[in-house]
Amino acid sequence: MGSEGATEAGSSRAHPIAVRRWAIWSLPTRLLAPVLLVEATSAALVVLGLLGQAPPTPAQLQVAGVLCLLGIAHTEVAVGVERVRRRVTEGNHVDLSSVWTFAAAVALPASYAALVAVIVHCHLWWRAWRLRVPLYRQVFSSATVVLACLASATVLERAGGPAEVGSNRQLWALALALLVYTTVNSCLVAGAIAVSTPQAELSKVFAPWDENVLEIATLCLGAITAIALGINPWLVLLVLPPLLVLHRAVLVRQLEEAASTDGKTGLLNAAAWHAQAERALRRSNRHDGPRGVLVLDLDHFKAVNDTHGHLAGDQVLAAVADAMRTEVRDRDLVGRFGGEEFVVLLAGLEGSGTVELEAVAERIRRRVANLRVEIPTPDGPLTVAGLTVSVGVAVSPAEGGDLRTLLQIADTALYAAKRAGRNVVRLGLALPSPHPAQHPTQLPTAAGDPPAATG
Ligand code: GH3
Ligand code: MG
Ligand code: MG
Repeated sequence: MGSEGATEAGSSRAHPIAVRRWAIWSLPTRLLAPVLLVEATSAALVVLGLLGQAPPTPAQLQVAGVLCLLGIAHTEVAVGVERVRRRVTEGNHVDLSSVWTFAAAVALPASYAALVAVIVHCHLWWRAWRLRVPLYRQVFSSATVVLACLASATVLERAGGPAEVGSNRQLWALALALLVYTTVNSCLVAGAIAVSTPQAELSKVFAPWDENVLEIATLCLGAITAIALGINPWLVLLVLPPLLVLHRAVLVRQLEEAASTDGKTGLLNAAAWHAQAERALRRSNRHDGPRGVLVLDLDHFKAVNDTHGHLAGDQVLAAVADAMRTEVRDRDLVGRFGGEEFVVLLAGLEGSGTVELEAVAERIRRRVANLRVEIPTPDGPLTVAGLTVSVGVAVSPAEGGDLRTLLQIADTALYAAKRAGRNVVRLGLALPSPHPAQHPTQLPTAAGDPPAATG
């Protein structure tokens, strides 16, 4: 995706006036129309606002100049961090420039605030993102920020009015403006994602929770910047160090996430799954209930590659991963073990755990069997169906049962499932409870097939 973006950006640079060759025209019509509408609306509102606005006072020019300079300085200092963040981010990307754009929305008339946003964004794109973000995407993203600035500045002008610096009234007005800014911005971005990928779930359309928290933290710094500007412009320099530290902390978190994620499926990779599963088992106690592991292996997956090619195979893996995730709870750990093998840890199961675990495994098996993966190809869409998966299940009581043993049992049960003809779920031996008197039902359980764990 990154290199594709680079090519598109490159082609727009190579032919700046060849309008018909701009990459934006490659967007599907259902996306092109709303994107152009957002961009045209923001441009029209800024122009109309500037026409109806009195010329800027020297104080306003000073505030706008300080915010542009600080925005540019921030980008220059953090350009390395921002380039790496762009490389490891997929989808929603919260950039921290809203400190300056929101401060502008608070401290300046709406259309001047929008101009500050345009200047800060143009510079940020040019210095940090242009190789990864095609120009048309940046223009849309800047248009959403401009609309957010216009909306929040207008709300402040109407609802806030002139308020004493630091007064309760000013704080309430700032909170309202912050809410309006983030709502306008995230809804426009979410709308574009929803139109471009209609099948995407709501949780994928809106940025993840911690990205939203980051955006709000950034806007709070923006509000403090605006208040500081009203007292003494030099005070604004105090905002830069915490902002740079925040920027680095965000990069570290993103790198950690990237290092623990499997690139093809978005699931945990094997090492991260192991580490997190070990931690989860150590943390859980007797009161949390039994735990269990599923080991899943796609049947005859080599044939999918041989028939449709490896790229199609990769998309099938991603679709199976999505299917698995939707059949388990958020707190269950789903990982890609390697190749076409997956693994799930479920804790806090009901009763002896066996019935619930088998039900989850059976749901996943059925869902994979009903999966139809649509793959776009140059010759038109290709549908891959008829997939099946074999599942090995291992359950242990709330206490006892280390991860290694659970995996061994589930893995042997998986081989039993393969031997039983594939597309089936097989339950391995349950581990005996260390407190048999308290867990009378958790004696070794045999499933239909003789558990392969016995040899
Ligand atoms: P079985 O039912 O016995 O599991 O048969 P199988 O074909 O699924 O198993 P086998 O181990 O023979 O082949 C696994 C295949 O998975 C071979 C390999 O090309 C494919 N594979 C492994 N990793 C990837 C990947 O990342 N992408 C794609 N497209 N294929 C992969
Ligand atoms: Mg395999
Ligand atoms: Mg297989």
